[in-house]
Amino acid sequence: MTTTSTPRTVLITGGNRGIGYAIAEEFLAQGHRVAVTARSGEGPAGSLTVRAEMTDSASIDAAFTEVETALGPVEVVVANAGITRDTLLMRMSEDDFTDVIDTNLGGAFRVVKRASKGMLKARFGRVVLISSVVGLYGSAGQVNYSASKSALVGFARSLTRELGARGITANVVAPGFIETDMTAELPEAQQAEYKKNIPAGRYGSAAEVAKAVTWLASDDAAYISGAVIPVDGGLGMGH
Ligand code: NDP
Repeated sequence: MTTTSTPRTVLITGGNRGIGYAIAEEFLAQGHRVAVTARSGEGPAGSLTVRAEMTDSASIDAAFTEVETALGPVEVVVANAGITRDTLLMRMSEDDFTDVIDTNLGGAFRVVKRASKGMLKARFGRVVLISSVVGLYGSAGQVNYSASKSALVGFARSLTRELGARGITANVVAPGFIETDMTAELPEAQQAEYKKNIPAGRYGSAAEVAKAVTWLASDDAAYISGAVIPVDGGLGMGH
């Protein structure tokens, strides 16, 4: 099966490393015009890097304006930037909670709200929110992170109901354990323990997440909206 995709202007948040970087690479490989936001570093060669802080609407607005000037209106937006502040509920500070919610959920809100202006005008848009298997599966020590990630499902589904008739789709990609800086930090024994519970018996790669994202943005996925697509080797089945 070949994927059909009209070249689009794509903006990925947090595209200087990890999953965001791989998503940018895959969109570039498929011939799209690609911009990434980064607080430091750069996106892959061939992409435009703009500075943006997810907790600051003004910086997001400025980043969009820069991308629109250079590459045209943003047609595909991928809200990928995210953080963890893991600890058990009893030890979780209010800042641990609000920082994660404000970055992961608030960031998606600010970015998608800004993107929706141009999408409404164009009567076309693709919104992809990067959630996590733990959003629906749950995870001890991640009350803040899990809540921020499950909220993205309600976000995408409400957006689908608001904007679905205007040629705009909104979907969630829920990665499982992916080989990135985030997972590399885990001790060997803990990594082995996690792998035991993954039906695929291995971690995924950022490139495997990127394939799902680019497909959701493609012409072929025009009738898919409000969906949660797991890329988790079967870990979250049924959730
Ligand atoms: P990384 O930690 O490697 O990268 C996170 C990215 O988000 C960086 O580009 C970072 O920018 C950016 N970012 C964080 N906070 C902010 C902020 N306040 N403003 C602007 N940018 C910010 O993460 P991954 O690539 O591993 O994860 C990407 C997404 O995928 C996240 O949403 C994560 O929750 C999700 N995910 C990851 C999984 C995994 O196994 N790795 C599993 C499931 C979901 P900077 O470099 O400047 O800090």
